[in-house]
Amino acid sequence: MKSHKIIEYQKPLKLIEEETPKPKGTEVLVKVLYSGVCHTDIHINDGFFTLAGKKKIDTSSMRSLPFTPGHEVFGEVFGFGKNARGLRLGQRRAVFPWIGCGKCDTCETGFENLCSQGNRSIGTSVNGGYSDYLIVPHSRYLLNTNGIDDRLAATYMCSGVTAYSAIKKIGKLKNSDTILILGLGGVGFSGLQICKAMFDNAIAVADIDTQKLKYAKRCGAKSVYNTLEKDSVSKLLKKSKGGVSVVIDFVGSEESSAFGLASTKRGGKYILVGLYGGQLTVPLATIPLRSISIIGSLTGSLSETKEFIKLAKKGTIKPIPIEERPMIKASKTLSDMRKGDITGRVVLKP
Ligand SMILES: [Zn+2]
Ligand SMILES: [Zn+2]
Repeated sequence: MKSHKIIEYQKPLKLIEEETPKPKGTEVLVKVLYSGVCHTDIHINDGFFTLAGKKKIDTSSMRSLPFTPGHEVFGEVFGFGKNARGLRLGQRRAVFPWIGCGKCDTCETGFENLCSQGNRSIGTSVNGGYSDYLIVPHSRYLLNTNGIDDRLAATYMCSGVTAYSAIKKIGKLKNSDTILILGLGGVGFSGLQICKAMFDNAIAVADIDTQKLKYAKRCGAKSVYNTLEKDSVSKLLKKSKGGVSVVIDFVGSEESSAFGLASTKRGGKYILVGLYGGQLTVPLATIPLRSISIIGSLTGSLSETKEFIKLAKKGTIKPIPIEERPMIKASKTLSDMRKGDITGRVVLKP
C-alpha cells in the first residue's frame, strides 16, 4: 500500500510503499476512501504545540516515526481478524479515531478521547488515513453514516464531533442569550451549522477574514465582526446588550482569547477548543467578579459522535464546503493550510 508519512518532524511528508497490514484478533482492515486534512495534522507534522513565546509542548513521544497522519477517515471494510464480529466485507463506514487504552477509569466512563494511559488514537498516535489502508482495533469504532455524504462523514469524525462536543457544553440558554463563534476554520464552520441546528438563539461570528465572514452571514450568522478592526469588541457589546452568554473559541490564540473574554457577559461561559497556542493572561479577580466559566473541550467521545451522526442524518446541519484532492497532494495541502489558504475542509482520495 502507499502511505504519506512523516519521516522527520517539520519536513514534508514522504510517499512510502509498504506491506498492507494484516488484521489480527478483533482488528479490521479498512480501505481508505476519503481522509480529511485537519489543522491538528500541522502540529503532528511539527511534533509540537506552541505554548507562550518560544515555549513548546513536545508531542513527538506520542508516536514513533515513520508515521501516517489522518484522523478523519471514511472507508470500506476490506478484511478483519478471527475475533471481529458484526462485519461484512465492503461495508462503508466512518472511522471513530479517538481511541484510548480501553481499560482505565476514563475509558470505562466512555471518554476514550480523554485517555492518558495508552492512547491509541488513529492518525495521532497510531497510523492513520493518509494511506490506501489502515487498521482499526475493533468494529465498535466503525460508524454507519448512511445518508450523509461520505466525504462529509469523514470530516465529522474530528471537525464535526469536536464542534458538537463543545456546543453540548453550552447547556441551557434563555431566548435572549447570544452565542459567539470565534474562528471560521473547518471546525468553526461546523460549529456555526451545529449551533443553528441546536439553538434558536442569535449567533454572532468573529474572524479576521472578510470573505469568511460574508459566507458566515449567508449561512445564518446574525452579526459578524472582524477582530482586526479596533472597535469590533465595543460593537459586539453594544449589539449583544452588554456581552454574549457563551463564546466558543475555535482559534485558541492570545488574540482570540482576549476578544472572547472581553465579549463574555457576567455569568457567561468561555469554551476553548482551538489549539493555536499562546498564553491566557487575564487579571484573576475578573474571573470571580464577572463569574465567568472557562471550559476546555477536546474532540468528543464515541457516544457523542453517535449522537452527532444521528443529528446530522436529520439533514438540519448544512454541510461545510468540501474540496476533494488526490492523496498525492497530502503534503501540499498541509502547507496550503499553514498559509490559511483553505476554506472549509479538504478531503484526500487515494
Ligand atoms: Zn482534527
Ligand atoms: Zn484509557
